[in-house]
Amino acid sequence: MNSRASHPEIVVIGAGLCGLAAAAGLTDAGHSVRVIEARDEPGGRIRSVVDARTGDYLADLGPTWVWPVYQPVVARWIDALDLSTFDQFIDGDSILDYGPDSEPELHQLPSQLGNVRLVGGPQAMIDALVSRLPGPVLASAQVTGISVAKDGLSLQLSDSGMADVKCDRVVVAIPPRIALNTIHWEPELPGAVARALTVMSTWMAPQAKAVALYKEPFWRGRGLSGRILSQVGPLVDAHDHSGPEGTPAALFGFVGWPPQTRAAADPHLEDQIRSQLVRCFGADSPEPTSIHVADWAQDPLVASPRDLTEPMSHPRVSPDILREPYANGRVLFASAETAVRSPGLIEGALDAAERVVAGVAKVATG
Ligand SMILES: Cc1cc2nc3c(=O)[nH]c(=O)nc-3n(C[C@H](O)[C@H](O)[C@H](O)COP(=O)(O)OP(=O)(O)OC[C@H]3O[C@@H](n4cnc5c(N)ncnc54)[C@H](O)[C@@H]3O)c2cc1C
Repeated sequence: MNSRASHPEIVVIGAGLCGLAAAAGLTDAGHSVRVIEARDEPGGRIRSVVDARTGDYLADLGPTWVWPVYQPVVARWIDALDLSTFDQFIDGDSILDYGPDSEPELHQLPSQLGNVRLVGGPQAMIDALVSRLPGPVLASAQVTGISVAKDGLSLQLSDSGMADVKCDRVVVAIPPRIALNTIHWEPELPGAVARALTVMSTWMAPQAKAVALYKEPFWRGRGLSGRILSQVGPLVDAHDHSGPEGTPAALFGFVGWPPQTRAAADPHLEDQIRSQLVRCFGADSPEPTSIHVADWAQDPLVASPRDLTEPMSHPRVSPDILREPYANGRVLFASAETAVRSPGLIEGALDAAERVVAGVAKVATG
């Protein structure tokens, strides 16, 4: 344990799912832990549309699905956090949209296997993990520098008014390219570590997701699943996103246009989504009560310039060196992208967190 009582033994950088799960596990193992987060609230890529009046969760602007039948780590954490799931609504025809000059077509399409949704969304995982921490997350504090010395670490924060944070170990629970590009490392990271961080793209970084909220899921009554596949967009792949009993009523869709086209369409993107929904569901369809868009490509804590220029491919397993303790075990890299299981996904974030907790236990006893 840490001999310097005023310093946390371990600092976790990043209050995304991985950082919070790691912090909870390390706390349970008896370590003193501090979580530092650049944004003003925890969650990272898990971001929700909330009721402006009550603050209640309504819909997801980040991840939506988990596959517990194929993802044992996710299944374990759902149990551990006492969460429950419900099936993705898929009953009825899907709409194939060919743009304003053609009538949409209805088809029965095959659905994904095993994807379910969490009651309360992935936000429920974040809330449950935050409530397990002994202290609050230090929010609105971006770590801009990490100095590694023989006797410990010193972390510099973006707000120059804040003193450097000292600790014995640091868990870098942020996407690899962000860890390389936005943190000044002293001494410089070895070439092999820097290269490994560089090759790992941030999963979903080039994407944008939109949520349309409705008074009711009217499409269900018309024999439609809510699924839209479009060759023109803006939404190229949309799904029913309503709550377990159909409330709140919602659709979500991926905005298939490249980041530059989206940026150029802004602030008219929302109108174009409304037009597309009318085109797909018909002029007699109810209007969405609101539309919410998260463009992850414009988020510098998610997307690096390289993420926006190379083609998006399914996440691969990162080089082993990112799973090995660096600087005598003082620095541990985490985030979903460093996982062996389901890298880039929710399961990857939890898998990486478990590896970090096991790694700290090994160093402590080894
Ligand atoms: C649109 C979208 C859809 C997705 N859909 C799915 C899905 O359906 N199913 C699925 O399994 N996964 C999905 N994912 C992926 C899923 O969101 C991620 O796997 C998961 O949220 C990653 O968590 P993380 O903690 O590893 O990283 P992050 O969520 O990126 O957390 C990193 C945290 O570190 C903070 N941070 C960064 N730099 C610093 C710094 N220097 N100092 C302090 N804090 C810093 C960030 O603000 C952030 O809070 C989706 C992602 C997106 C964007």
